[in-house]
Amino acid sequence: GGNLMAGKRGVVFGVANNRSIAWGITKSVTQQGAEVALTYQAEALKKRVEPLAAEAGSKLVLPCDVTDGASVDAVFEALKKEWGTIDFLVHAVAFSDKDQLDGRYVDTTEDNFTKTLLISCYSFTALAKRAEALMPNGGSLLTLTYYGAEKVMPHYNVMGVAKAALEASVHYLAADLGKNNIRVNAISAGPIKTLAASGIADFRYILKWNEYNSPLRRTVTIEDVGGGGLYLLSDLSKGVTGEVLHIDAGYHVIGMKNEDAPDI
Ligand code: NAD
Repeated sequence: GGNLMAGKRGVVFGVANNRSIAWGITKSVTQQGAEVALTYQAEALKKRVEPLAAEAGSKLVLPCDVTDGASVDAVFEALKKEWGTIDFLVHAVAFSDKDQLDGRYVDTTEDNFTKTLLISCYSFTALAKRAEALMPNGGSLLTLTYYGAEKVMPHYNVMGVAKAALEASVHYLAADLGKNNIRVNAISAGPIKTLAASGIADFRYILKWNEYNSPLRRTVTIEDVGGGGLYLLSDLSKGVTGEVLHIDAGYHVIGMKNEDAPDI
């Protein structure tokens, strides 16, 4: 390891298992000396997250469902009590009903629209507000988005709308918090096979399509995203805010199918 994150402490929301993007980021920052608190959404995930926390040298492992304001407040109270201040926050949280990550966007229900936007977009703003209070010397906030915010991707549907709102939130939060030297950025990750991704219809096809058509002719890993996370959470990016960094093997620059791509 190195020491790019020496002396920095932060909290990571969204580790579900060792395939989570949040875990890739946790590994990359702890290898560089960061101290990390992890949260888990529900009791069922606790037994998966605890061993990962131990591996990352994390002593703070806290329950947090972002739809439960009391559990969110409890996390920040614990961070304040334990550390006083924090330097970074990672938001790698999203949810939509599986049956709406298929078929047409136009068929989305009001109930699932509200739930998806609440969990996948508003929660980042809610966490940012609480983090601000613990960042008197500045800090770095990071969220995860996807190209489906910018262009229509089959089956991504209401989640694409939520990610578009999330990316706009990154811009507004960067403007609000910049004067306190708090930076706010997003990583737009290419498709990776995780628990959340398994809810998207035909995800295997999407992975193959990206592998055959991205400039690097491969998909990305949670370690690739971890590298970008390290950059955005460390002082290497101290002049960067309001940015959406694509870590997608270059897929977002491509306008047409690669001529040499095999059939999928
Ligand atoms: P994941 O399933 O490992 O992580 C999603 C996390 O969201 C889980 O830890 C889950 O517990 C948490 N979560 C869901 N609802 C919650 C709630 N109410 N309260 C607290 N936590 C809640 O999957 P992932 O792919 O690592 O997802 C992390 C982020 O990356 C998401 O924002 C996702 O949209 C984004 N992303 C994923 C991909 C991909 O292809 N996997 C691509 C681009 C962006």
